[in-house]
Amino acid sequence: MSDCLFCKICSGDVNTDFVYEDDVCVVFRDINPKDKTHLLVVPKEHIASIADIESGHCELLGGLLHSCKVVAGKLGLSGYKLQINVGKDGGQEIFHLHIHLLSKFDS
Ligand code: AMP
Repeated sequence: MSDCLFCKICSGDVNTDFVYEDDVCVVFRDINPKDKTHLLVVPKEHIASIADIESGHCELLGGLLHSCKVVAGKLGLSGYKLQINVGKDGGQEIFHLHIHLLSKFDS
């Protein structure tokens, strides 16, 4: 989507340092961190929200969770929380699906 910030970050149109990247997603640090480590795990495919997920997205969603595990391991995070905000009423501000990976540990 041409007017989506996270699509522009994924494509490199908006310059952002990636902590991690694989076929499924990119991972970068939240600009307004809510914990010592606050990463955003963002699929390269534009899906607006969990509310828009269809059965065909199951593999992608599994891949995203796997990427969370991999990036946490690479950063040496022994514990963390995953959060997905869904819809305006769920606190979602950017309508490109993403997982917040939050940890009380620095990375
Ligand atoms: P959500 O409220 O779940 O949609 O989360 C959106 C997150 O994106 C917020 O935590 C913002 O701080 C973060 N954010 C917005 N713009 C950027 C950016 N350019 N780079 C990194 N994080 C961003």
